[in-house]
Amino acid sequence: MREGDAPKIVQRIPTQDKVVFLTFDDGAEKDPQFVKMAKDLKLPFTMFLTDSVARTGQGYGYFEQLRDAPGGDVRNGVDNHTIDHPNLRTLSAEAQKKEICTQQETLQKRFGERPALFRPPYGNYNDATLAAARACGVRAVVLWEATMQINDMRYAAADGLRPGDIVLAHFRGPQELKGTTMTQMVTNMLRSIERQGYTVGRLEDYV
Ligand SMILES: [Zn+2]
Repeated sequence: MREGDAPKIVQRIPTQDKVVFLTFDDGAEKDPQFVKMAKDLKLPFTMFLTDSVARTGQGYGYFEQLRDAPGGDVRNGVDNHTIDHPNLRTLSAEAQKKEICTQQETLQKRFGERPALFRPPYGNYNDATLAAARACGVRAVVLWEATMQINDMRYAAADGLRPGDIVLAHFRGPQELKGTTMTQMVTNMLRSIERQGYTVGRLEDYV
């Protein structure tokens, strides 16, 4: 990327391979069983963290474990999902810059690397969002195609997953999932992905 280029907007990865990409947003729930699961499966995924909820409880240390879960030199992505999770379209350019760039700084300081990816809360953005993201070093704005519910996914194309789909899930626990745990929700998701003949890829290898 040349300096000053606007970040690209990625909603789906162009590929013929039956591969999809997992993303987990916000960061409120910090289920230790999910760390174990991520390590056991060496599960590739990208995290989009909102400071106001990610820093509660165990805080960023929890997400560091998930970053390192694949083991060896392979790391899961820790990326930017703003400070306070606002609808960015309702904010001034200056306020958007604060939301995005402050979280870039926070994550860089905590994880030693500037996030390459940014996801706007609710998928809402405008030109000022892209300008702010560019100003603080974001390479791509990542949206999604499929959304994980409790038992299965909701799809952009009515009949199921398509090659290169990005799946949105959240760090959620029994309170938000009607008694289902985070690991049960992820198990449901992985079963559905497998049943449809897909594997899980690493988004950072494609973006
Ligand atoms: Zn969110």
